[in-house]
Amino acid sequence: MILHPFPGGIHPNDEKGLTAHLQVEDTPIPERVFLPLSQHIGAPAQPVVKVGDQVRIGDKIAEARGFVSANIHASVTGVVRSIGDYPNVFGRLSPAIEIETTDDSPFQPDKKREDVLSLPPQTLIPFIREAGIVGMGGATFPTHVKLSPPEDKPIQSLIINGVECEPYLTADHRLMLEHPLEILEGIVYIHHILGARFTYLAIEANKPDAIQLMEETVKKEDAKINVISVPKRYPQGAEKQLIKTIIGREVPAGGGLPMDVGAVVQNVGTTFAIYEAIRWGKPLIERILTVTGRGVKSPKNLRVRLGTPVQDILDLCGGWKTEPGKLIMGGPMMGINQFDLRVPVTKGTSGILLLPRDEVGEYHPHTCIRCGRCVTVCPMGLLPNFLGVFSEYARFSDAERYHLLDCIECGSCTYICPAKRPLVQMIRYAKGEVLRRRKKAANK
Ligand code: SF4
Ligand code: SF4
Repeated sequence: MILHPFPGGIHPNDEKGLTAHLQVEDTPIPERVFLPLSQHIGAPAQPVVKVGDQVRIGDKIAEARGFVSANIHASVTGVVRSIGDYPNVFGRLSPAIEIETTDDSPFQPDKKREDVLSLPPQTLIPFIREAGIVGMGGATFPTHVKLSPPEDKPIQSLIINGVECEPYLTADHRLMLEHPLEILEGIVYIHHILGARFTYLAIEANKPDAIQLMEETVKKEDAKINVISVPKRYPQGAEKQLIKTIIGREVPAGGGLPMDVGAVVQNVGTTFAIYEAIRWGKPLIERILTVTGRGVKSPKNLRVRLGTPVQDILDLCGGWKTEPGKLIMGGPMMGINQFDLRVPVTKGTSGILLLPRDEVGEYHPHTCIRCGRCVTVCPMGLLPNFLGVFSEYARFSDAERYHLLDCIECGSCTYICPAKRPLVQMIRYAKGEVLRRRKKAANK
């Protein structure tokens, strides 16, 4: 198959050898969990429990508010102890439901749902919506919305994203190695919903074992899925870049969506969650993540209950091995630095990266030397040097004219900049400011 490489991109050391060979382990049930009401893009969920209520694992404890929102379920059996502000991954406080565990019984699935493919496609969407599934590659967009394109946007190409191009992370890789049949079944369900003409499973070339296993599984099950090995290049797993590589089409700038070019992209973790929701009626109450980096004593791939505080996971992995440098939720390119170990694991947490002190450089940004390297690597064809300056001096309308909102925040420009300018950080700030002002203007 002919691939269509996206422009730009970088080749950071992938550092996946720390955990790629490690089987996923189940974590012990946490003593208490803190489940934020906003673990997704869209309106925060509305609590349907009150302090003192007994809840069973899998019970709905907060309901989606509106179409673009997602339900939240109890990830343990216990008692609701509080509903209030709690530290979140973005360094702020946001509302969360605290449950104290009283019973470590596992989730009991419904009776297995048989003959799923004989059901009308649209009847599968409520199972996904009810389960509170969101994009688990980090985007956290509610999945039932993504799988409900309007009638005038038929989907030709379904692309399952097993690229996992963020350095260090190996959760999706392990999922493909340990649950190939379940992922395949999830793909078949999504295909049934969308009626796509072509279905692809894209895996980065640095995971030859996963590529081989998924190819063998597809062949054995006689499924009509193209397993594609895509070149190792960051950010190959970003939605727009993957669409370009696989089907050669560009999602329109200025707010275009994959459905505008007849495509839907779903992460393999999300696909697995869809399988569990449809086949077993299991809500999204846990996820696989990678705990990694040279700062942690015992790197692992773990299956973790949502709402588990980072401190619990750190203890389970033996704590810091050396003087702490940075603890990042996610990978080194797009992850977020943390300052509070009470922060819980949420639906979008793909990893926890611990960097020792001697691996964390202290940078002193200089003025731009106009080398143009950031422009060369930008996979969106933007001018990060200009966007950085506009953002720095609060020239937001100039930044908008230069397509600020098309930035996917991949961090390639910051990575490459010899003047150590914090480009993506400044751009992210400006994007937030532009969106906040737009919202304010719309509410006037
Ligand atoms: S962070 Fe934005 S501006 Fe920088 S390289 Fe990525 S897409 Fe381009
Ligand atoms: S890479 Fe850095 S120094 Fe070079 S043009 Fe971009 S912002 Fe300027």
